[in-house]
Amino acid sequence: MDGQLPIDTRPWPVRRDAALHDQTMQQTIGVVTKRLANAKVTAYAAYPEANHWRQRAVEVKRQSIRQLEEHLATFTQQVESHGGKVHRATTAADAIQTILEVAQHHQVRSVIKTKSMVTEELELNRALENAGIAVRETDLGEYIIQLAHEKPSHILAPALHKNREQIHALFDQDALVYHTEPPASEDIVALTQYARRRLREEFLAADMGVTGGNFLVAETGTVVLITNEGNADMVTTLPRLLVSVVGVEKIVADWSGLIDVIQQPALSGVGQRLSSYTTLVSGTRGPDQWEGPDEWHVVLLDNGRTQLKDTPFEDVLSCIRCGACLNVCPVFRQVGGHAYGSVYPGPIGIVETPLLTNFEVLPELPSALCTLCHACGEACPMNIDLPGHIVQLRQMKQERHMNAIGVTRSYRWWARFWATPHGYRRSMRWARWGQWWFVRHGRIQSAPGLAGGWFKTRDMPPVASMTFHEWWDRTRGKRQ
Ligand code: SF4
Repeated sequence: MDGQLPIDTRPWPVRRDAALHDQTMQQTIGVVTKRLANAKVTAYAAYPEANHWRQRAVEVKRQSIRQLEEHLATFTQQVESHGGKVHRATTAADAIQTILEVAQHHQVRSVIKTKSMVTEELELNRALENAGIAVRETDLGEYIIQLAHEKPSHILAPALHKNREQIHALFDQDALVYHTEPPASEDIVALTQYARRRLREEFLAADMGVTGGNFLVAETGTVVLITNEGNADMVTTLPRLLVSVVGVEKIVADWSGLIDVIQQPALSGVGQRLSSYTTLVSGTRGPDQWEGPDEWHVVLLDNGRTQLKDTPFEDVLSCIRCGACLNVCPVFRQVGGHAYGSVYPGPIGIVETPLLTNFEVLPELPSALCTLCHACGEACPMNIDLPGHIVQLRQMKQERHMNAIGVTRSYRWWARFWATPHGYRRSMRWARWGQWWFVRHGRIQSAPGLAGGWFKTRDMPPVASMTFHEWWDRTRGKRQ
């Protein structure tokens, strides 16, 4: 496979335990994801046409992916006719090399960035810093996690796991380093004002801007950025040199298609009709224009994406990174994004990580981090069959003999036993008899062998003292 994603090398039990013991993170993520999921439901209820808009967006994205190469060729031709330069990057390493060459050619010392999951995928900040170039994230959430030396925990809201006290402490520390006035309080307005003041200096001093891209419009060669802070306007207009790094799957054919898809990330992600700012970059600064870059490079990243075309997983390429599947996922709400070990967490990360890289990477993703509750499938505005894909990935793991032999044998034995009513009833009788060694305060709290792991963080009610059939026979007389 061509793809490569940065992977957390800590073993799964270490990541899991770190997440389960971080109560502040759990509380913050629980509250915010529920708020976002509710906001989406409220927004859909407020606009009777919302489902129709969503369906049109699905059709546009599916159609765009089917004609991907054709649209990319049009996009390239349009960008280059408006003074830009398009680079196709097959791998993450190709993209990094291109961006470094551009930066070094112009002797860039400092970069300002918009939020971009693709640049997280490339670990671009690290590559630039290793080359002696200072990088500053300008999206508020990204700025916070940059100060904390962490990775995003959510694809739409990167600092979702941080509360106000933690953010205040980070800004206080930053103020010490930069000898500037710290935020006046832990109040959200005070924190935002601090970030705004600090970032303004960096906007004005930067040599190069780097953006991602929410959509690409082929017919005019436009990179479309949506933000709620307006920072993309500053990044694309202040520095004289601009690089946009975008996944190839972001393409749509034309403006009518863009109008159908553009509201979906905000509507489904945070319940807003549209994001506060839409920034369009369609070329370099013309002779009669006073803002915009003198030089514009667009890096179109593949990194394993096009190999999903014409496979049962092709719909994954329609993802608009709205985060709705993360917001409703009961596992994500418990463990947060870092436990997944991939730059893409949550249900979409479970599916995308092995598909873009390989199956040996983070093998626990489709099993340990999914309960198959199907909430993500219902929440996804792009109709991506996330639960179906997760089942398929589990099957593929089984076919590749990636499950521990003890686990495989136990499930096989269990499936055989429960395949007959007789086996099922007998197992219930055994469970009723054997469970009392493990019941404390009216709940089963431990179990021997493999099942013991399950009870480390949970309990369950004991098996009832009689089955429904036994109860019926006793109270209503023997069934015929
Ligand atoms: S998979 Fe669907 S719900 Fe999840 S981020 Fe992508 S578009 Fe949004």
